[in-house]
Amino acid sequence: MTADSDAISPRDDDSSKHKIGEIAERTLRDLEADFADLKERAQQLLSERVYLENEVSQQKKKVNRLEDEVRQLRMPPHVIGNIQDILEDDRAVVRSSNGTIFLVSLNRNLDSDLLKPGARVALNQDSLSVVDVLSDAWDPLVMGAEMIDRPETTYEDMGGVEEQIALIKESIELPLLNPAAFKNFGIEPPKGVLLVGPPGCGKTMLAKAVASSTECTFIRLVASELAQKYIGEGGRMVRELFDLARERAPAIIFIDEIDAIGAKRLDSATSGDREVQRTLMQLLAELDGFDALDDVKLIAATNRPDILDEALLRPGRFDRIIEIPLPNDEGRKAILEINMSGMPTTKGVRIGHLVEETKGFSGAELKALVVEGGMSAIRNNRKKATKDDFEKALTTVKEKRTEGRGSAPSDLWN
Ligand code: ATP
Repeated sequence: MTADSDAISPRDDDSSKHKIGEIAERTLRDLEADFADLKERAQQLLSERVYLENEVSQQKKKVNRLEDEVRQLRMPPHVIGNIQDILEDDRAVVRSSNGTIFLVSLNRNLDSDLLKPGARVALNQDSLSVVDVLSDAWDPLVMGAEMIDRPETTYEDMGGVEEQIALIKESIELPLLNPAAFKNFGIEPPKGVLLVGPPGCGKTMLAKAVASSTECTFIRLVASELAQKYIGEGGRMVRELFDLARERAPAIIFIDEIDAIGAKRLDSATSGDREVQRTLMQLLAELDGFDALDDVKLIAATNRPDILDEALLRPGRFDRIIEIPLPNDEGRKAILEINMSGMPTTKGVRIGHLVEETKGFSGAELKALVVEGGMSAIRNNRKKATKDDFEKALTTVKEKRTEGRGSAPSDLWN
């Protein structure tokens, strides 16, 4: 090998320098890219950390809240009572829910305006001191009663019940609107009116209509809800129902299905039956207790007048009975006309024919017929309901009646 061959030529030297430069550049680029990646990752981790810290603080708050709730739930229950009298030195006479009367102290932080005789309050279980005021706290069931400030139903919405409207006006409307006339003549108007008749013939409607025309609050309760299992509950609810009505006076209390508490008293053995009777006694006591010229009136309704206790029907109680029977031909015509008044129909739809075909139908069934007819027209994309729609509707409603699903009247009324 010659010395010449061993020597590095200047060209080789240049190319290796160039290569080293290239490698260094590539490594630098890689390092820069790695750096950028890591920087981004670090940023991500940082935001994740902030997020998790946030989450931890949220969860801590939640735990505190839940611990608070558990503490509340573990607290001994309060006794409910009513204030009877407010005395000096932050003391009061209260009647607890079991009827015992106590002299107790008041929580000074309570609003003194709310601490009035009659207010419902929470009492500490041990000391019975008043810890909270539960104003307007009626029994949830009484609060669950349907209450309408002034119902929208009017006498004009009803068909075929002119006689019944005249009777209810005389016994409910007149004494409410003109009590002086009764006083002058020394006559006692009826305290309560009993509406009897098959289901779906307008008993509820009539009660609502009279409330509307006298601008009364309408309070409706189904009597079976008053038939409580616990001793004293039903009676208390009746009391509260009347208290509520007096507070919202002028008011009309409507007790539907009164037979649930007003059935004939038999020598029943079960305590449940006896409790139902106690509820009825409370209702009678309330009826006896209020003045016929008060601005609270009671209307009750039943489909079963035959099983009612005579005590309910004695003078001074439900001494006016108004029967709303199944509508006759004229009545059905009127009800159909009212319900079809807003419905576009073709000439083929003849009310006379529908009246013929609906013998024995209740008002509710007649309404169902009109609704079915309209629905059929809508389903078929028609602008007007046709004879065909009503024929189909007749079949549907008649089928429902025979299946007993509709509001078919009981045998009692046929
Ligand atoms: P239930 O005994 O089942 O409580 P009800 O006698 O109180 O029945 P309502 O609730 O008053 O019957 O009537 C049900 C529906 O039937 C009403 O909403 C109304 O559409 C229709 N209806 C009943 N009777 C008439 C009537 N005389 N005029 C017009 N519509 C009536």
